[in-house]
Amino acid sequence: MSVFSHPEFDDHAEVVFCHDAESGLKAIIAVHNLDRGPALGGCRMWHYENEAEALTDALRLSRGMTYKSALANLPYGGGKSVIIGNSKTMKSEALFRAMGRFVDSLGGRYVIAEDVGIGVGDVEIMGRETDHVAGVNAGGAGDPSPATAHGVYMGIRAAVKHKLGRGNLNGVTVAVQGLGHVGQYLCRFLARDGAKLVVTDIDRNVMNRMAEELKAETVEPDAIYGVAADVYAPCALGATINDTTLKVLRATIVAGSANNQLAEPRHGAELQRRGTLYAPDYVINAGGIINISHEGPRYDKDKAFAHVGLIHDTLIEIFRRAEGSGTSTSEAADRLAEERFKRARTETPAAA
Ligand code: NAD
Repeated sequence: MSVFSHPEFDDHAEVVFCHDAESGLKAIIAVHNLDRGPALGGCRMWHYENEAEALTDALRLSRGMTYKSALANLPYGGGKSVIIGNSKTMKSEALFRAMGRFVDSLGGRYVIAEDVGIGVGDVEIMGRETDHVAGVNAGGAGDPSPATAHGVYMGIRAAVKHKLGRGNLNGVTVAVQGLGHVGQYLCRFLARDGAKLVVTDIDRNVMNRMAEELKAETVEPDAIYGVAADVYAPCALGATINDTTLKVLRATIVAGSANNQLAEPRHGAELQRRGTLYAPDYVINAGGIINISHEGPRYDKDKAFAHVGLIHDTLIEIFRRAEGSGTSTSEAADRLAEERFKRARTETPAAA
């Protein structure tokens, strides 16, 4: 297993392999970039098939955080960690305390938070060993989902304005895939503005309950791509923009919360070629981390949400740049993020 010559290495600043025999902890902390500040990023606990898969995930996710924070103008670099193990059976206080000690040993270069398989309570246990934690309840901003949903809502408004030339969502049809933490809040924001909702979820109880509350139409999970909607909002899984779904996708805008929406980078160019406006995932779903950047004893929700709302303007800038340069919006987002974190090397980091 190579590290420096790994295809996803991409100039990572630091990759730490963590092992604690007593608790059974096996983890990797990847710090991609520190140009804008400490590397803030969640910890994922997953039953990886092998260590190589865990390393690939850590490297890809931490790089993504550098781009996400730079585009949101946050004073953070990019980092992420993975714990190798089953989050349903292998969690223990000793394991999380050991992880906390490893985070602490990095002296604040990496700040840990929640991700898939890791909840607020787990990060709070790590917080007994280190101050370098975020997204916890004490002095923290709590559940990031409402903020993420607000950012996605503002992002949909930006995309609708840019693509359809409409200043509001009244009568705009949005097909929402996934009615979980983010999807539910998002649907309520959209319904409040008069959007027409078509929703789906593999959990029928949730789907029927939300459809009744929102007076929304429902479709089977696989039918969501073919809905004649203005906007397709993926809020469940990644990689839903792929060769199969592109054959049936009818929406002219793709804008949702899911991470890694493009199965491969070439699908961003394919969306551009067919005239579908794509709001790059790591830009539109940055509301949670923007909210975390406001954490502290003086947390002010209105101020934090106003900051999240700037996702609207960032997306408009990306859409215009992409048009101006004839590139896909995903490429335009990457270039803008790179400008921001590379520039930060020679400047004082931007204020949150
Ligand atoms: P969640 O687990 O609460 O909700 C996901 C929902 O999608 C569930 O209701 C699930 O039943 C449904 N689902 C799963 N597979 C489906 C399918 N094939 N078709 C239809 N529905 C399906 O997750 P969440 O916190 O709401 O996050 C949603 C997405 O947004 C994830 O990709 C997540 O990584 C991303 N995201 C979330 C946040 C956040 O603040 N929660 C922040 C950034 C990105």
